[in-house]
Amino acid sequence: MEVHCTVKNCTWWDDNYCIANGILITSDEVGEALPERYDYQETQSIVQQFGETPVDSCTSTCCKTFAPRQD
Ligand code: SF4
Repeated sequence: MEVHCTVKNCTWWDDNYCIANGILITSDEVGEALPERYDYQETQSIVQQFGETPVDSCTSTCCKTFAPRQD
């Protein structure tokens, strides 16, 4: 699957594509509650901790894999 993304200042951004091996998308609410270090590898523990995280619209989701580019 291609992930198109426009967040240019992310480490995983490459010319409007995401090149991360995996990404974690969750609700804004859970994204804000989790420490920065939580990513797709912890999906199962996040579900155990918060349950599944349905939302009402796309604007209520966030990419938890975002990491600011260091350059
Ligand atoms: S990790 Fe998220 S914010 Fe970063 S390029 Fe991929 S989709 Fe975009």
